Amino acid sequence: MAFCVDIGGSFMKFGLAPRNGEAVRQVDQVPTPAHSWADFVAALADLCARHGAGQPADAPLAISMAGIVDPDSGILTAASNLGGLVGHRLAAELTVALGRPVRVANDADCFALAEATVGAGRGHRVVFGIILGTGIGGGLVVGGRLISGAAGITGEWGHGAIVKTMAGSPPVAIPRLECGCGGVGCIETFGSARGLERLHHHLTGQGLDSRSIVDGWQAGEALSRRTISIFLELVSEPLALLVNAIGPHRVPVGGGLGSSAPLVAALDQAVRALILRQTEEPLLVPAELGANAGLIGAAVLALQP
Ligand SMILES: [Zn+2]
Repeated sequence: MAFCVDIGGSFMKFGLAPRNGEAVRQVDQVPTPAHSWADFVAALADLCARHGAGQPADAPLAISMAGIVDPDSGILTAASNLGGLVGHRLAAELTVALGRPVRVANDADCFALAEATVGAGRGHRVVFGIILGTGIGGGLVVGGRLISGAAGITGEWGHGAIVKTMAGSPPVAIPRLECGCGGVGCIETFGSARGLERLHHHLTGQGLDSRSIVDGWQAGEALSRRTISIFLELVSEPLALLVNAIGPHRVPVGGGLGSSAPLVAALDQAVRALILRQTEEPLLVPAELGANAGLIGAAVLALQP
């Protein structure tokens, strides 16, 4: 048995992962002590104590969190809503404080690991899981193992100066916007759910949410159709480059936009038209694990030898 935790800015989900292959069970949810290291350690110790009755005292724990961990130093270098934890060697310090082996991974990485193991990528050797949600992220899993690159930055295809300045037919100017990462022209500025809304506003002046734009596209509404057509062009080109570069067999798509199967199918078609590999099989597919992917990915990580 292992413990798994999915840490968000507001809440921590706590789960039990049996070794016999049974599904992960979420057993608790508590507020995240995001601003105090001591309170954070105490909260984790309390969860393990309350739910660990009858379990080995050294049962491992794995954590999924929205932050970047440098795999060489083990230091949490960035975490937007978890300021009190930044700068700590999370896994090493928690292993000592909790008296059990602790592993930590980025939430997009845990999403990819979960989808590659028991979700939409299961059975495939190279799986690149992508998130089209509030932001854009991703994680790479090869042979069931997470690939964690230099400084913990892997799969961050949402960032890079890649947005085209003209798109669509007839062509329309696309502004190169400043991104939260400090860059300009990142695909996250137009390819995320917020980005889709920004793009629609730029093209039409309408302030619609992403769900309404996708619904309008499916209903054949002209303005939404044009927005989605340009969205697919902007997002499929960097994705196709990525697919050619790393060769995934499957690309599970999560996040808010990933919950629209027709949108994922349209993006799949657009990407497959641009890549070198010729395949009739779907490449981009909707993720299957929903909001539980982080917890399940942490469970997979905790149980790995
Ligand atoms: Zn960026």
